[in-house]
Amino acid sequence: MARFKVCEYCGAALDFGETCDCKREAESQAEKWRSMTKQETTGQIRLLPEIITKERDKT
Ligand SMILES: [Zn+2]
Repeated sequence: MARFKVCEYCGAALDFGETCDCKREAESQAEKWRSMTKQETTGQIRLLPEIITKERDKT
């Protein structure tokens, strides 16, 4: 039985049960993106301008 699994995203060897950082990063980016956008009923994705401004002020 294999002790390691391989990250399906970057191919890194992971300990059993470990989640690769690259995936966590991708998920947090996806989560951030979802919070910054609004999907219209037409299927178009719209950026929420007030959140963009907030992000810009942080840096
Ligand atoms: Zn990875």
